[in-house]
Amino acid sequence: MKYDFLIVGGGIGGLICGCLLSKEGYKVCILEKHYSIGGGLHVFRKHNMIFETGIHYVSGFSQNQVLSKIFNYLQVLDNLKMKELDAEAFDILHIGEDNHKYKLGSGEENFINGLSIDFPEEHDNLKRYISSIKDLSKKFYLFNLEPRETDIFSMDDELTQPVGKYIDQFFKNEKLKRVVAWNNSLYAGIYDKTPAFVHILISRFYLDGATRFVDGSQQLADNMVKVIKAAGGDVFTSSEVVHLDVLDKEVKKIKIADGRTFEAQNYISAIHPAVTLDMIDTSQVQKSYRNRITSLKNTTSVFTLFVTFKEKSFPYFNYNYYYSPSYDSIWKASEYTAESWPQGMMLLTPPTSGENKYAEKMIINCIMNFDDVKLWENTKTGKRGDDYLSFKRKCTDKIISILKDIFPGIEDTIEYLSTSTPLTIRDYTGSKDGSLYGIEKDCNNMLSSHIVPRTKINNLYLTGQNINLHGIIGVALSAILTAGEFVGVNYLINKINEEYQKN
Ligand SMILES: Cc1cc2nc3c(=O)[nH]c(=O)nc-3n(C[C@H](O)[C@H](O)[C@H](O)COP(=O)(O)OP(=O)(O)OC[C@H]3O[C@@H](n4cnc5c(N)ncnc54)[C@H](O)[C@@H]3O)c2cc1C
Repeated sequence: MKYDFLIVGGGIGGLICGCLLSKEGYKVCILEKHYSIGGGLHVFRKHNMIFETGIHYVSGFSQNQVLSKIFNYLQVLDNLKMKELDAEAFDILHIGEDNHKYKLGSGEENFINGLSIDFPEEHDNLKRYISSIKDLSKKFYLFNLEPRETDIFSMDDELTQPVGKYIDQFFKNEKLKRVVAWNNSLYAGIYDKTPAFVHILISRFYLDGATRFVDGSQQLADNMVKVIKAAGGDVFTSSEVVHLDVLDKEVKKIKIADGRTFEAQNYISAIHPAVTLDMIDTSQVQKSYRNRITSLKNTTSVFTLFVTFKEKSFPYFNYNYYYSPSYDSIWKASEYTAESWPQGMMLLTPPTSGENKYAEKMIINCIMNFDDVKLWENTKTGKRGDDYLSFKRKCTDKIISILKDIFPGIEDTIEYLSTSTPLTIRDYTGSKDGSLYGIEKDCNNMLSSHIVPRTKINNLYLTGQNINLHGIIGVALSAILTAGEFVGVNYLINKINEEYQKN
């Protein structure tokens, strides 16, 4: 069968893009390599417990917010189970050096008042900072779902300055400068490299209120599959794309691992652009384009510890807990030695539909560079060898030893432990080097780290976290840009807004 669109990768970006195009009457087919759909939304089961993989907390689902508008348009909001995090502190930042805990609240007032308790003399500066975040985020028409003629990336110097410089200009207190950067692990921020707009958009997104999926984020992926299928499309799992057959600047067909081939009018790759190009014969892609895409640096990765608690033994936290050994390590989580790892962690107790006085599980993320697992890069899951298992055990012991200091007695509450490494992320999502958020944005080289949906191959387009921005918000907006190549970005934005106004 010939489809209008074949989408490579059934992660968040592929699914949203597939839904947008299905709603325009196109026949869409999604090919997903994993046995289950969803990418970052996918959950896995271990010891009878569901664990999230790539979506720990989100925002934008409340009334009038951007994701509620987009997902309302896609008709996938029904029966979604979500839980708002505490407004006074949706994140807690704990600094080991002086054993101090900071509250990061959502909403202008909560954020400013929460930090003014610790930094009263900076109250006015906090106000200036928040008002700058609000003002500058208005410049992104797509983020605000406003139809415009200009490109999202026609940015001024204020937005493309290094993130560290942007934050530091507001505050006198050296500690506060770092505290305000607490969330840089949400975008793998680098002090003198990440453009300020990434911090501005991610901060604005979460300052509007943070939410978690209850019982995991898979529900959103499953709802999107229903929309695509209801429109006559297909979604195939366990279908790893291995080759794109390109001739005369056109994709002719796609081959999957079991040898089957699929054809369509247009092809959208919702996986890493460099991985996409690796699946095309060298002679069919301009050398300069391939070199540019493959030479871009990717964001760092993460080691994750998944914990199952004994019944009613550990409290549920309705916030995320960030731990940093020192103020300086906030910007330096990926700069460590074998001895000094980890330089920080972000942990959460995901909610379940039961009562949530006690936590059933905990997920602990620690930044880890791919180099740490490079030794095993040519091995496969479950067959990486004893030395890999021993490496994972050592990492687990280090994390537990920090957790014991933060939460005395936690070791007695743990029933089961499991782990994932950068190799797990690489092999399950196809993300280059297990990168958390794909290609690193570089304020010193804005143009080359900015990837657009169109490629040098006429009927091949890109979507997902490497276009525009990462995270659930970034890929949703990228999907609008990619689908907009066929029906118009403003047309989609108008339809999304009109549909929302009907409610
Ligand atoms: C540990 C972790 C925590 C995160 N936490 C958050 C969070 O709390 N909030 C947030 O907003 N963002 C978070 N993110 C980021 C977010 O998950 C990503 O930005 C988002 O999932 C990217 O969406 P995507 O569609 O580009 O890629 P993905 O969702 O990763 O989807 C890519 C899909 O393509 C499939 N695929 C790969 N290769 C092939 C192939 N050859 N053939 C067929 N299919 C293929 C993969 O299996 C996968 O399903 C987190 C990421 C990680 C890794």
